[in-house]
Amino acid sequence: MSLNQLTVAKFGGTSVADYAAMLRCADIIKNDPTNRLVVVSASSGVTNLLVRLSQAEVDASEQQAIITQISDIQHNILAHLNDELLTHEIHQLLVELADVARQQGQDYSVKVADTILSFGEQMSSRIFAKVLQQVGVEGAYFDVRQVMKTNSLFGQAVVDLEQLKLHAQQFLAPKLTEQVIVTQGFIGQDAQGDTTTLGRGGSDYSAALLAEALSAHHLAIWTDVVGIFTTDPRITDQARSIKEISFGEAAEMATFGAKILHPATLIPAMRQNIPVFVGSSKEPEKGGTLIQQSVESKPTYRSIALRREQTLVTVKSPAMLHASGFLAKVFAVLAKHELSVDLITTSEISVAMTFDNPTGSMQALLNSNVLEELEQLCEVSVEHGLSLIAVVGNNIHRTNGVGTSIFDTLQGINVRMICQGASEHNLCFLVEEQQANEAVEKLHRNLFAH
Ligand code: ADP
Ligand code: ASP
Ligand code: MG
Repeated sequence: MSLNQLTVAKFGGTSVADYAAMLRCADIIKNDPTNRLVVVSASSGVTNLLVRLSQAEVDASEQQAIITQISDIQHNILAHLNDELLTHEIHQLLVELADVARQQGQDYSVKVADTILSFGEQMSSRIFAKVLQQVGVEGAYFDVRQVMKTNSLFGQAVVDLEQLKLHAQQFLAPKLTEQVIVTQGFIGQDAQGDTTTLGRGGSDYSAALLAEALSAHHLAIWTDVVGIFTTDPRITDQARSIKEISFGEAAEMATFGAKILHPATLIPAMRQNIPVFVGSSKEPEKGGTLIQQSVESKPTYRSIALRREQTLVTVKSPAMLHASGFLAKVFAVLAKHELSVDLITTSEISVAMTFDNPTGSMQALLNSNVLEELEQLCEVSVEHGLSLIAVVGNNIHRTNGVGTSIFDTLQGINVRMICQGASEHNLCFLVEEQQANEAVEKLHRNLFAH
Protein backbone atom coordinates (compact mmCIF):
# COMPACT_ATOMS: atom_id res chain seq x y z
CA MET A 1 0.00 0.00 0.00
CA SER A 2 1.48 3.34 -0.94
CA LEU A 3 0.98 6.32 1.29
CA ASN A 4 -0.29 8.73 -1.29
CA GLN A 5 -3.67 8.92 0.43
CA LEU A 6 -2.92 8.82 4.13
CA THR A 7 -5.75 9.53 6.57
CA VAL A 8 -5.01 9.88 10.26
CA ALA A 9 -8.10 8.80 12.22
CA LYS A 10 -8.59 9.84 15.84
CA PHE A 11 -11.14 8.22 18.13
CA GLY A 12 -12.14 10.00 21.32
CA GLY A 13 -13.03 8.49 24.70
CA THR A 14 -16.67 7.63 24.02
CA SER A 15 -15.69 6.05 20.69
CA VAL A 16 -13.46 3.56 22.53
CA ALA A 17 -15.57 3.36 25.70
CA ASP A 18 -16.50 -0.32 25.39
CA TYR A 19 -16.27 -3.28 23.05
CA ALA A 20 -19.29 -2.34 20.93
CA ALA A 21 -17.97 1.19 20.46
CA MET A 22 -14.51 -0.12 19.53
CA LEU A 23 -16.05 -2.51 16.98
CA ARG A 24 -17.81 0.41 15.27
CA CYS A 25 -14.48 2.24 15.06
CA ALA A 26 -12.76 -0.86 13.70
CA ASP A 27 -15.39 -0.99 10.94
CA ILE A 28 -14.72 2.64 10.07
CA ILE A 29 -11.02 1.81 9.67
CA LYS A 30 -11.77 -1.31 7.66
CA ASN A 31 -14.14 0.48 5.29
CA ASP A 32 -11.59 3.06 4.16
CA PRO A 33 -8.12 1.73 3.34
CA THR A 34 -6.61 5.22 3.49
CA ASN A 35 -6.99 5.03 7.29
CA ARG A 36 -3.47 3.92 8.15
CA LEU A 37 -2.73 5.69 11.39
CA VAL A 38 -5.18 5.48 14.27
CA VAL A 39 -4.84 7.73 17.31
CA VAL A 40 -6.93 6.80 20.33
CA SER A 41 -7.93 8.45 23.59
CA ALA A 42 -8.34 6.57 26.82
CA SER A 43 -11.67 4.76 27.20
CA SER A 44 -14.35 7.16 28.41
CA GLY A 45 -14.03 8.02 32.11
CA VAL A 46 -10.55 6.53 32.51
CA THR A 47 -8.58 9.80 32.34
CA ASN A 48 -10.89 11.39 34.91
CA LEU A 49 -10.23 8.45 37.24
CA LEU A 50 -6.49 8.74 36.60
CA VAL A 51 -6.59 12.45 37.38
CA ARG A 52 -8.09 11.63 40.76
CA LEU A 53 -5.54 8.84 41.27
CA SER A 54 -2.69 11.24 40.56
CA GLN A 55 -3.70 13.67 43.30
CA ALA A 56 -1.73 14.02 46.49
CA GLU A 57 -4.57 13.48 48.96
CA VAL A 58 -5.81 10.10 47.69
CA ASP A 59 -5.35 7.39 50.33
CA ALA A 60 -4.47 3.76 49.73
CA SER A 61 -8.03 2.46 49.85
CA GLU A 62 -9.26 5.07 47.38
CA GLN A 63 -6.29 4.26 45.13
CA GLN A 64 -7.35 0.64 45.16
CA ALA A 65 -10.98 1.51 44.42
CA ILE A 66 -9.96 3.67 41.44
CA ILE A 67 -7.70 1.00 40.00
CA THR A 68 -10.51 -1.53 40.31
CA GLN A 69 -12.85 0.77 38.39
CA ILE A 70 -10.29 1.27 35.62
CA SER A 71 -9.56 -2.44 35.53
CA ASP A 72 -13.29 -3.19 35.17
CA ILE A 73 -13.63 -0.83 32.20
CA GLN A 74 -10.70 -2.48 30.42
CA HIS A 75 -11.63 -6.06 31.37
CA ASN A 76 -15.18 -5.60 30.10
CA ILE A 77 -13.61 -5.09 26.66
CA LEU A 78 -10.95 -7.76 27.08
CA ALA A 79 -13.67 -10.32 27.85
CA HIS A 80 -14.72 -10.13 24.19
CA LEU A 81 -11.23 -10.64 22.83
CA ASN A 82 -10.09 -13.93 24.34
CA ASP A 83 -6.45 -12.97 24.14
CA GLU A 84 -4.39 -14.21 27.05
CA LEU A 85 -1.28 -12.32 26.09
CA LEU A 86 -3.09 -8.99 25.82
CA THR A 87 -5.00 -9.64 29.06
CA HIS A 88 -1.67 -10.31 30.74
CA GLU A 89 -0.15 -7.11 29.27
CA ILE A 90 -3.06 -5.01 30.57
CA HIS A 91 -2.78 -6.73 33.95
CA GLN A 92 0.92 -5.83 34.07
CA LEU A 93 0.12 -2.22 33.24
CA LEU A 94 -2.43 -2.10 36.05
CA VAL A 95 0.13 -3.51 38.49
CA GLU A 96 2.62 -0.88 37.34
CA LEU A 97 -0.06 1.80 37.70
CA ALA A 98 -0.74 0.71 41.30
CA ASP A 99 2.99 0.96 42.04
CA VAL A 100 3.31 4.43 40.57
CA ALA A 101 0.18 5.56 42.43
CA ARG A 102 1.64 4.28 45.70
CA GLN A 103 4.82 6.25 45.02
CA GLN A 104 2.71 9.34 44.26
CA GLY A 105 0.84 8.87 47.55
CA GLN A 106 4.13 9.03 49.43
CA ASP A 107 5.84 11.82 47.54
CA TYR A 108 3.70 13.84 45.12
CA SER A 109 5.22 15.15 41.89
CA VAL A 110 3.76 16.60 38.69
CA LYS A 111 6.09 14.35 36.76
CA VAL A 112 4.57 11.22 38.28
CA ALA A 113 1.09 12.68 37.76
CA ASP A 114 1.72 12.68 34.00
CA THR A 115 2.99 9.11 34.09
CA ILE A 116 -0.23 8.12 35.86
CA LEU A 117 -2.39 9.98 33.33
CA SER A 118 -0.72 8.19 30.43
CA PHE A 119 -1.97 4.72 31.40
CA GLY A 120 -5.44 5.24 29.88
CA GLU A 121 -4.12 5.74 26.36
CA GLN A 122 -1.49 3.04 26.85
CA MET A 123 -4.24 0.51 27.56
CA SER A 124 -6.88 1.61 25.05
CA SER A 125 -4.40 1.65 22.16
CA ARG A 126 -3.18 -1.90 22.88
CA ILE A 127 -6.75 -3.12 23.13
CA PHE A 128 -7.94 -1.33 19.99
CA ALA A 129 -5.10 -2.83 17.91
CA LYS A 130 -6.48 -6.23 18.88
CA VAL A 131 -10.06 -5.27 18.02
CA LEU A 132 -8.82 -4.27 14.57
CA GLN A 133 -7.21 -7.66 14.15
CA GLN A 134 -10.48 -9.27 15.15
CA VAL A 135 -12.31 -7.60 12.24
CA GLY A 136 -9.57 -8.67 9.85
CA VAL A 137 -7.44 -5.53 9.73
CA GLU A 138 -3.76 -6.03 10.35
CA GLY A 139 -3.38 -3.57 13.20
CA ALA A 140 -0.26 -3.03 15.28
CA TYR A 141 0.40 -1.07 18.45
CA PHE A 142 2.95 1.75 18.39
CA ASP A 143 4.23 3.72 21.37
CA VAL A 144 3.83 7.37 20.38
CA ARG A 145 6.51 8.39 22.88
CA GLN A 146 9.08 7.22 20.33
CA VAL A 147 8.13 10.19 18.17
CA MET A 148 6.11 12.70 20.26
CA LYS A 149 9.10 14.40 21.88
CA THR A 150 8.22 17.28 24.20
CA ASN A 151 9.70 19.64 26.75
CA SER A 152 9.29 18.88 30.45
CA LEU A 153 6.29 21.11 31.16
CA PHE A 154 4.30 18.32 32.77
CA GLY A 155 0.55 18.60 32.26
CA GLN A 156 0.92 20.98 29.35
CA ALA A 157 4.01 19.77 27.48
CA VAL A 158 5.10 21.50 24.29
CA VAL A 159 5.93 19.26 21.35
CA ASP A 160 9.22 19.58 19.49
CA LEU A 161 7.95 19.72 15.92
CA GLU A 162 11.28 19.06 14.28
CA GLN A 163 11.98 15.98 16.31
CA LEU A 164 8.44 14.76 15.79
CA LYS A 165 8.78 15.07 12.04
CA LEU A 166 12.18 13.42 11.97
CA HIS A 167 11.16 10.51 14.15
CA ALA A 168 7.76 10.08 12.51
CA GLN A 169 9.37 9.81 9.09
CA GLN A 170 11.98 7.42 10.40
CA PHE A 171 10.01 5.14 12.72
CA LEU A 172 6.36 5.49 11.76
CA ALA A 173 6.14 6.10 8.02
CA PRO A 174 7.78 2.79 6.99
CA LYS A 175 5.34 0.84 9.18
CA LEU A 176 2.30 2.57 7.71
CA THR A 177 2.87 1.03 4.29
CA GLU A 178 2.55 -2.45 5.81
CA GLN A 179 0.02 -2.17 8.62
CA VAL A 180 -2.56 -0.01 10.25
CA ILE A 181 -0.78 1.51 13.21
CA VAL A 182 -2.65 2.26 16.44
CA THR A 183 -1.09 4.79 18.75
CA GLN A 184 -1.90 7.05 21.69
CA GLY A 185 -3.13 10.60 21.73
CA PHE A 186 -2.43 12.96 24.61
CA ILE A 187 0.96 11.62 25.71
CA GLY A 188 4.58 12.35 24.86
CA GLN A 189 8.07 12.04 26.26
CA ASP A 190 10.67 14.57 27.36
CA ALA A 191 14.43 14.51 26.79
CA GLN A 192 14.98 12.63 30.07
CA GLY A 193 12.68 9.84 28.91
CA ASP A 194 9.87 10.84 31.28
CA THR A 195 6.28 10.63 30.12
CA THR A 196 4.48 13.93 29.56
CA THR A 197 0.93 14.92 28.62
CA LEU A 198 -0.28 17.64 26.26
CA GLY A 199 -3.23 18.90 28.33
CA ARG A 200 -6.77 17.57 28.75
CA GLY A 201 -8.51 16.75 25.51
CA GLY A 202 -5.08 16.71 23.84
CA SER A 203 -5.63 13.64 21.66
CA ASP A 204 -7.14 15.77 18.88
CA TYR A 205 -3.97 17.83 18.89
CA SER A 206 -1.74 14.72 18.90
CA ALA A 207 -3.57 13.41 15.84
CA ALA A 208 -3.20 16.73 14.02
CA LEU A 209 0.52 16.88 14.84
CA LEU A 210 1.04 13.36 13.55
CA ALA A 211 -0.94 14.18 10.40
CA GLU A 212 1.31 17.16 9.83
CA ALA A 213 4.53 15.26 10.52
CA LEU A 214 3.53 12.55 8.04
CA SER A 215 2.10 14.98 5.44
CA ALA A 216 -1.24 13.17 5.67
CA HIS A 217 -4.01 14.01 3.23
CA HIS A 218 -6.83 13.93 5.73
CA LEU A 219 -7.41 14.05 9.42
CA ALA A 220 -10.62 12.45 10.69
CA ILE A 221 -11.77 13.22 14.22
CA TRP A 222 -14.35 10.62 15.23
CA THR A 223 -16.35 11.58 18.29
CA ASP A 224 -19.87 11.25 19.73
CA VAL A 225 -21.65 13.92 17.65
CA VAL A 226 -22.30 14.21 13.91
CA GLY A 227 -19.76 16.97 13.35
CA ILE A 228 -19.43 20.52 14.59
CA PHE A 229 -22.78 22.03 15.54
CA THR A 230 -24.07 25.57 15.54
CA THR A 231 -23.60 25.36 19.30
CA ASP A 232 -22.98 22.63 21.87
CA PRO A 233 -25.91 20.23 21.30
CA ARG A 234 -26.01 19.65 25.06
CA ILE A 235 -27.14 23.26 25.54
CA THR A 236 -29.99 23.31 23.04
CA ASP A 237 -31.65 20.67 20.89
CA GLN A 238 -32.00 23.36 18.21
CA ALA A 239 -28.27 23.03 17.46
CA ARG A 240 -27.56 21.49 14.08
CA SER A 241 -24.55 20.06 12.32
CA ILE A 242 -22.51 22.33 10.04
CA LYS A 243 -21.58 20.79 6.66
CA GLU A 244 -18.45 22.80 6.01
CA ILE A 245 -16.51 25.44 7.86
CA SER A 246 -13.24 27.27 7.25
CA PHE A 247 -10.10 26.70 9.28
CA GLY A 248 -10.31 30.25 10.61
CA GLU A 249 -13.85 29.91 11.94
CA ALA A 250 -13.35 26.42 13.36
CA ALA A 251 -10.12 27.50 15.06
CA GLU A 252 -11.97 30.36 16.77
CA MET A 253 -14.67 27.97 17.90
CA ALA A 254 -12.11 25.61 19.38
CA THR A 255 -10.26 28.46 21.06
CA PHE A 256 -13.42 29.85 22.56
CA GLY A 257 -14.49 26.64 24.16
CA ALA A 258 -16.37 24.41 21.74
CA LYS A 259 -15.16 21.25 23.43
CA ILE A 260 -15.55 19.31 20.22
CA LEU A 261 -11.92 20.13 19.28
CA HIS A 262 -8.91 20.77 21.47
CA PRO A 263 -8.01 24.47 20.93
CA ALA A 264 -4.67 23.73 19.24
CA THR A 265 -5.94 21.02 16.87
CA LEU A 266 -6.27 23.14 13.78
CA ILE A 267 -2.87 24.82 14.00
CA PRO A 268 -0.91 21.90 12.47
CA ALA A 269 -3.73 21.19 10.01
CA MET A 270 -3.64 24.82 8.83
CA ARG A 271 0.16 24.85 8.50
CA GLN A 272 0.03 21.87 6.18
CA ASN A 273 -3.41 22.57 4.68
CA ILE A 274 -4.84 19.20 5.72
CA PRO A 275 -8.65 19.03 5.56
CA VAL A 276 -10.19 17.86 8.83
CA PHE A 277 -13.39 15.83 9.02
CA VAL A 278 -15.39 15.63 12.24
CA GLY A 279 -18.02 12.90 12.54
CA SER A 280 -19.71 10.46 14.88
CA SER A 281 -18.29 6.97 15.25
CA LYS A 282 -21.77 5.90 16.32
CA GLU A 283 -23.36 7.11 13.11
CA PRO A 284 -20.64 7.38 10.47
CA GLU A 285 -23.24 7.14 7.71
CA LYS A 286 -24.66 10.53 8.75
CA GLY A 287 -21.56 12.36 7.56
CA GLY A 288 -20.25 15.30 9.53
CA THR A 289 -18.34 18.53 9.16
CA LEU A 290 -15.51 19.22 6.77
CA ILE A 291 -13.06 21.87 7.94
CA GLN A 292 -10.86 23.27 5.20
CA GLN A 293 -9.05 26.33 4.01
CA SER A 294 -11.75 27.82 1.85
CA VAL A 295 -15.46 27.18 1.89
CA GLU A 296 -18.32 28.29 -0.34
CA SER A 297 -20.68 29.70 2.22
CA LYS A 298 -19.50 32.45 4.54
CA PRO A 299 -22.44 33.27 6.79
CA THR A 300 -22.15 36.12 9.26
CA TYR A 301 -23.21 33.75 12.05
CA ARG A 302 -21.75 30.26 12.01
CA SER A 303 -21.85 29.12 15.58
CA ILE A 304 -21.83 30.05 19.25
CA ALA A 305 -19.11 28.76 21.58
CA LEU A 306 -19.20 28.79 25.35
CA ARG A 307 -16.31 28.58 27.76
CA ARG A 308 -17.07 28.32 31.45
CA GLU A 309 -15.00 29.10 34.54
CA GLN A 310 -13.59 32.41 33.44
CA THR A 311 -11.97 34.83 35.83
CA LEU A 312 -12.08 38.56 35.24
CA VAL A 313 -9.33 40.70 36.71
CA THR A 314 -9.69 44.47 36.58
CA VAL A 315 -6.71 46.66 37.36
CA LYS A 316 -7.15 50.37 37.90
CA SER A 317 -4.71 53.19 38.43
CA PRO A 318 -4.95 56.96 38.00
CA ALA A 319 -1.27 56.72 37.05
CA MET A 320 -2.42 55.26 33.74
CA LEU A 321 -3.91 58.56 32.65
CA HIS A 322 -1.80 59.90 29.78
CA ALA A 323 1.10 57.75 30.97
CA SER A 324 3.05 55.15 29.06
CA GLY A 325 4.49 51.85 30.24
CA PHE A 326 1.77 50.92 32.72
CA LEU A 327 0.41 48.03 30.67
CA ALA A 328 3.93 46.73 30.14
CA LYS A 329 4.40 46.52 33.91
CA VAL A 330 1.11 44.68 34.39
CA PHE A 331 1.96 42.21 31.65
CA ALA A 332 5.46 41.69 33.01
CA VAL A 333 3.91 40.41 36.26
CA LEU A 334 1.59 38.09 34.34
CA ALA A 335 4.41 36.83 32.13
CA LYS A 336 6.58 36.12 35.15
CA HIS A 337 3.85 33.86 36.53
CA GLU A 338 3.18 32.33 33.10
CA LEU A 339 -0.44 33.49 33.10
CA SER A 340 -1.98 33.91 29.70
CA VAL A 341 -4.63 36.57 29.15
CA ASP A 342 -7.53 35.82 26.81
CA LEU A 343 -9.72 38.87 26.39
CA ILE A 344 -8.75 42.38 27.26
CA THR A 345 -10.51 45.74 27.30
CA THR A 346 -9.10 49.05 28.43
CA SER A 347 -10.34 52.47 29.44
CA GLU A 348 -8.40 55.60 30.42
CA ILE A 349 -7.37 54.36 33.81
CA SER A 350 -8.32 50.69 33.94
CA VAL A 351 -7.77 47.40 32.20
CA ALA A 352 -10.02 44.34 32.39
CA MET A 353 -8.59 40.94 31.48
CA THR A 354 -10.00 37.43 31.42
CA PHE A 355 -8.20 34.24 32.37
CA ASP A 356 -9.19 30.72 31.56
CA ASN A 357 -9.09 27.98 34.15
CA PRO A 358 -7.93 24.91 32.26
CA THR A 359 -6.43 23.03 35.19
CA GLY A 360 -8.65 24.32 37.96
CA SER A 361 -5.71 26.16 39.46
CA MET A 362 -6.53 29.66 38.31
CA GLN A 363 -8.33 30.63 41.46
CA ALA A 364 -5.38 29.59 43.65
CA LEU A 365 -2.86 31.22 41.38
CA LEU A 366 -4.68 34.50 41.12
CA ASN A 367 -5.22 34.63 44.83
CA SER A 368 -1.55 34.35 45.60
CA ASN A 369 1.60 36.22 44.64
CA VAL A 370 0.28 37.53 41.34
CA LEU A 371 -2.34 39.64 43.02
CA GLU A 372 0.08 40.93 45.61
CA GLU A 373 2.49 42.00 42.89
CA LEU A 374 -0.26 43.65 40.86
CA GLU A 375 -1.53 45.42 43.96
CA GLN A 376 1.83 47.12 44.26
CA LEU A 377 1.13 48.71 40.88
CA CYS A 378 -2.58 49.41 41.02
CA GLU A 379 -5.99 48.63 42.49
CA VAL A 380 -7.02 45.09 41.62
CA SER A 381 -10.41 43.38 41.64
CA VAL A 382 -11.10 39.76 40.81
CA GLU A 383 -14.40 38.16 39.78
CA HIS A 384 -14.89 34.43 39.38
CA GLY A 385 -17.85 32.45 38.08
CA LEU A 386 -18.14 33.98 34.64
CA SER A 387 -18.63 32.40 31.23
CA LEU A 388 -17.29 33.55 27.92
CA ILE A 389 -19.62 33.40 24.94
CA ALA A 390 -18.20 33.78 21.44
CA VAL A 391 -20.38 34.36 18.39
CA VAL A 392 -18.29 33.00 15.53
CA GLY A 393 -18.79 33.76 11.86
CA ASN A 394 -17.49 35.82 8.96
CA ASN A 395 -16.86 39.50 8.51
CA ILE A 396 -18.35 40.16 11.91
CA HIS A 397 -16.33 43.35 12.24
CA ARG A 398 -17.70 44.81 8.98
CA THR A 399 -21.33 43.78 9.14
CA ASN A 400 -23.98 46.28 10.08
CA GLY A 401 -26.32 45.38 12.89
CA VAL A 402 -24.32 42.56 14.46
CA GLY A 403 -24.23 44.29 17.84
CA THR A 404 -27.96 44.98 17.74
CA SER A 405 -28.85 41.41 16.76
CA ILE A 406 -26.76 40.02 19.55
CA PHE A 407 -27.39 42.39 22.42
CA ASP A 408 -31.09 42.99 21.77
CA THR A 409 -31.48 39.24 22.20
CA LEU A 410 -29.80 39.32 25.58
CA GLN A 411 -32.29 41.54 27.37
CA GLY A 412 -32.34 40.64 31.03
CA ILE A 413 -28.83 39.20 30.95
CA ASN A 414 -25.99 41.15 32.47
CA VAL A 415 -23.12 41.40 29.95
CA ARG A 416 -19.94 41.95 31.92
CA MET A 417 -17.39 42.65 29.18
CA ILE A 418 -17.42 42.82 25.37
CA CYS A 419 -14.60 42.28 22.88
CA GLN A 420 -14.91 42.93 19.22
CA GLY A 421 -12.80 44.24 16.39
CA ALA A 422 -9.56 42.32 16.67
CA SER A 423 -10.89 39.32 14.76
CA GLU A 424 -13.07 39.21 11.68
CA HIS A 425 -14.44 35.91 12.96
CA ASN A 426 -15.86 36.64 16.38
CA LEU A 427 -17.58 38.83 18.88
CA CYS A 428 -17.09 37.73 22.50
CA PHE A 429 -18.56 38.72 25.81
CA LEU A 430 -18.75 37.59 29.40
CA VAL A 431 -21.88 36.72 31.34
CA GLU A 432 -22.56 35.29 34.78
CA GLU A 433 -22.14 31.52 34.86
CA GLN A 434 -25.81 30.96 35.89
CA GLN A 435 -27.06 32.88 32.87
CA ALA A 436 -24.71 31.34 30.32
CA ASN A 437 -26.94 28.55 29.01
CA GLU A 438 -29.92 30.87 28.80
CA ALA A 439 -27.84 33.41 26.89
CA VAL A 440 -26.62 30.79 24.39
CA GLU A 441 -30.13 29.39 23.93
CA LYS A 442 -31.63 32.85 23.32
CA LEU A 443 -28.88 33.82 20.92
CA HIS A 444 -29.13 30.55 19.06
CA ARG A 445 -32.87 30.96 18.68
CA ASN A 446 -32.43 34.45 17.30
CA LEU A 447 -29.38 33.98 15.07
CA PHE A 448 -30.02 30.48 13.72
CA ALA A 449 -33.78 30.00 13.53
CA HIS A 450 -34.68 29.93 9.82
P1 ADP B 1 -14.09 13.09 22.42
O1 ADP B 1 -14.06 12.26 23.65
O2 ADP B 1 -14.51 12.33 21.20
O3 ADP B 1 -12.84 13.90 22.21
P2 ADP B 1 -15.40 15.41 23.54
O4 ADP B 1 -16.36 15.11 24.64
O5 ADP B 1 -14.07 15.95 23.87
O6 ADP B 1 -15.29 14.09 22.63
O7 ADP B 1 -16.09 16.42 22.50
C1 ADP B 1 -17.37 16.12 21.98
C2 ADP B 1 -18.43 16.93 22.71
O8 ADP B 1 -18.20 18.31 22.44
C3 ADP B 1 -19.82 16.70 22.24
O9 ADP B 1 -20.42 15.60 22.88
C4 ADP B 1 -20.52 18.03 22.55
O10 ADP B 1 -21.29 17.96 23.72
C5 ADP B 1 -19.38 19.01 22.79
N1 ADP B 1 -19.50 20.23 21.97
C6 ADP B 1 -19.29 21.48 22.42
N2 ADP B 1 -19.49 22.38 21.45
C7 ADP B 1 -19.85 21.69 20.35
C8 ADP B 1 -20.20 22.06 19.02
N3 ADP B 1 -20.22 23.33 18.63
N4 ADP B 1 -20.51 21.08 18.17
C9 ADP B 1 -20.50 19.79 18.53
N5 ADP B 1 -20.18 19.37 19.77
C10 ADP B 1 -19.86 20.30 20.68
N1 ASP C 1 -7.73 11.12 27.51
C1 ASP C 1 -7.36 12.51 27.54
C2 ASP C 1 -8.42 13.33 28.26
O1 ASP C 1 -9.44 12.80 28.67
C3 ASP C 1 -7.09 13.08 26.18
C4 ASP C 1 -8.27 13.10 25.24
O2 ASP C 1 -9.25 12.37 25.45
O3 ASP C 1 -8.20 13.84 24.25
O4 ASP C 1 -8.21 14.49 28.47
MG1 MG D 1 -12.11 15.69 23.11
